Amino acid sequence: MALGEFSLIDRYFKRSGNVGSTPGTIGVGDDAAILPMPPGHKLVACKDVLIEGRHFFTGVVPDSLSHKSLAVNLSDLAAMGAKPIGCLLGLGIPSVDEAWLASFSGGLNALAERWGCPLVGGDTVATKDGIVISVTALGILPYHESGLLRSAAKVDDDIWVSGPLGAPDIALQILAGNLEDPQGCLPKLRPTLERPEPRVALGQRLLGFAHAAIDISDGLTQDLSHVLDASHVGAVLTLKDLPVHDGLAAFDPSAIQRAVLHGGDVYELCFTAPAVHRQRIGLIGQSLGLQLSRVGKIRAEPGLFANIDDSLIEIEPKGFDHFLRGEQ
Ligand code: ADP
Ligand code: MG
Repeated sequence: MALGEFSLIDRYFKRSGNVGSTPGTIGVGDDAAILPMPPGHKLVACKDVLIEGRHFFTGVVPDSLSHKSLAVNLSDLAAMGAKPIGCLLGLGIPSVDEAWLASFSGGLNALAERWGCPLVGGDTVATKDGIVISVTALGILPYHESGLLRSAAKVDDDIWVSGPLGAPDIALQILAGNLEDPQGCLPKLRPTLERPEPRVALGQRLLGFAHAAIDISDGLTQDLSHVLDASHVGAVLTLKDLPVHDGLAAFDPSAIQRAVLHGGDVYELCFTAPAVHRQRIGLIGQSLGLQLSRVGKIRAEPGLFANIDDSLIEIEPKGFDHFLRGEQ
């Protein structure tokens, strides 16, 4: 007999529900979840929707798919400086495939446990065709903290990015058949696209002294432009300082530059901070084992510019736009 909705939830999503959660948490199994709020904190919430064929390839390993579905939300919490406390899963599947569900729930639980973000509820529905996944992540901020807002960049702030850039976009271009891979680089690059590491610890460490932050989901230039617009400032990026993933050497320099500047799915943080904090940021990078690169400067003149060989060239912000169906 096919597994019904309730036994499916019990088998794959209930067991995990209270792993790592705060005492007093009511997780999967009641009408709604209850999460005790530590005194002196406020709630931070975000949600992402992923649709088969649009946001992920049909047939992607379910364990990676669920990892990414949660990772993109943890990345949003990180970009606010928030600490995760729990997540909810909206899952639409055309039919019940137990092997798929076991792998999917395994990937979700592994990442959820790692960041203390237990699955506390959700909804499960049958779709006509295709998989739809929507994760909501909940986090907390100390009540007196504003969070790392997009609107908080200040003139003369340094601009920083975590991690190397470019690899997920090159992997995507290869998988989509838009880019050749004669040297067989895909196996090394693919995990950067399918299993991004949300910079949760970094976001929390930046809280209190960094100004603005955003996670790079659509592309550095596009996401940084959101910060510039919200903060009413401009910026200059120093192209030679942008950290390029070391698995890209085989590709055309123009393809690499495009991927580094405009490629999406990176889930690294781009943040701004006063120059006085350079050493502190260096130490945070060291203690987290995370590459942190100073890549530019905020300035009063609006617009995004690149510093190439000491001349300034305006960069058109480009990246992924879902309604314009692709890269702009
Ligand atoms: P209701 O009909 O009251 O909305 P459901 O029968 O949909 O409740 O869900 C029963 C319980 O299982 C709830 O606690 C709900 O949060 C949880 N749940 C349902 N689907 C999921 C899922 N995909 N992931 C996690 N929890 C889920
Ligand atoms: Mg109910």
